[in-house]
Amino acid sequence: MKYEVVMGLEVHVELSTNSKLFCACSSKFGAEPNENVCPACLGMPGMPAVTNKRAIELGIAAGLVTNSEITKTISFDKKNYFYPDLPTGYQVTQLFAPICKNGWVEIETEKGKKKITLSQIHIEADAGKLVHDNRTDTSLIDYNRASVPLIEIVSNPDFRSAEEVVAYLEKLRQLLSFANVSDCKMQEGSMRCDVNISVMEKGATEYGVRTEIKNMNSLKAIAAAINYEAQRQIDALETASEELVQETRRWDDSKGQTFSMRQKEDATDYRYFPNTELMPISIEDKWIEEVRANLPEAAHDRFLRLTEKLGLSEYDSNIITGSKNLSDIFDKTMEYFSKPKEVANWIIVELLSIAKGDNKGEDDVKIDCKKFAKLMELVDSKVINRNVGKDLLSLVLTEDIDPEKYVEENKLGMISDTDMIDKVVQEVLVEFSKSVEEYKEGNQKVFGFLVGQTMRKLGGKANPQLINSLLKKHLS
Ligand SMILES: [Zn+2]
Repeated sequence: MKYEVVMGLEVHVELSTNSKLFCACSSKFGAEPNENVCPACLGMPGMPAVTNKRAIELGIAAGLVTNSEITKTISFDKKNYFYPDLPTGYQVTQLFAPICKNGWVEIETEKGKKKITLSQIHIEADAGKLVHDNRTDTSLIDYNRASVPLIEIVSNPDFRSAEEVVAYLEKLRQLLSFANVSDCKMQEGSMRCDVNISVMEKGATEYGVRTEIKNMNSLKAIAAAINYEAQRQIDALETASEELVQETRRWDDSKGQTFSMRQKEDATDYRYFPNTELMPISIEDKWIEEVRANLPEAAHDRFLRLTEKLGLSEYDSNIITGSKNLSDIFDKTMEYFSKPKEVANWIIVELLSIAKGDNKGEDDVKIDCKKFAKLMELVDSKVINRNVGKDLLSLVLTEDIDPEKYVEENKLGMISDTDMIDKVVQEVLVEFSKSVEEYKEGNQKVFGFLVGQTMRKLGGKANPQLINSLLKKHLS
């Protein structure tokens, strides 16, 4: 309690452009190694660079959703260093005239609301990726990611706990994904975060020696790394067991520890200078207003629409607007089947549980919304029962079936013939007479079992309300 942890964040977010920052190569994740490369992004001498306009627009959009000032004239600079994943020998970035300055983001933690201030957002080109091949004990290079456009969002040292850092990253993810700036998928590396961290005695005016932690790829890892590193620094101050130096440290998730990577470079080590091959770009107010006008509906506005206009609970609305993907599925499905509570229910209860079983997150669920709506309609109009509907949902996801056709071809229509159900109910009561006795002795749970047996005999297709009422009638 004697110490205070002070942190600032550098968050890298890959922009959701179709092509790279200075060439027409695809920037899509998941291609075969070195499939998306050309002489320009491989750094061949003499190749002209053409700036991707969409990347600049997404940079402006990022500034707008983070309350930043947009710079009137931006330019690019070279950050020089040698590393095999960087074919040009320098990274294109913005040191002197970054696209955004002085923004802020409001976060909410258990302690209440807090404003996190941003010093700047700049656009830069990503590097390639080294892949170590254990079989041949060599390192291979994949340049697909080389020159993919990124923004780096640099915060001031406003964070005092891991909880604040996690809340901020979740907020950024929400703001940027709803604005279509990035899909912000940490597991695919489209959102990455470095934490600058130091500790000082409470009330001190000067920050302690800071380290930078890299290599964290989940919110859980980030929180664990912060807590570990803060404690390591406090121990060092308390016991003088080691001297704290300004350095970059790597987080090892399996060991639960940070390890020294290299002593921290200063800006001068990179010999920054203006990139004279790229013209400065003027961002006029008109362009900013165009980007603002085209921003998709923000998460908070969607939340208000769901709760106030559509009458959904705050709980359901929070889940749906917690993910851009789910929110889009909701809106799209509503175009074909406009019962908001039903749609929300099917998404939250059924769709997400199937996704969870397949180890997929909210952002990875994909479904044909027209078919999704159709199966809800079949259940709603009592053509099929809900359980058949659930099975159909799995089939829409895995085999892309047409629900209406499938019901017809497989005769899955709901059985609502009272005489037919009644006959089966009576059979079940005879067959499971022991359960009937238990029920009559007061064991209410047996009722569900008898419903299940009746449903089973009717191929799972019967009207559950009818089974319930007929069973009750006979049992009383
Ligand atoms: Zn290229």
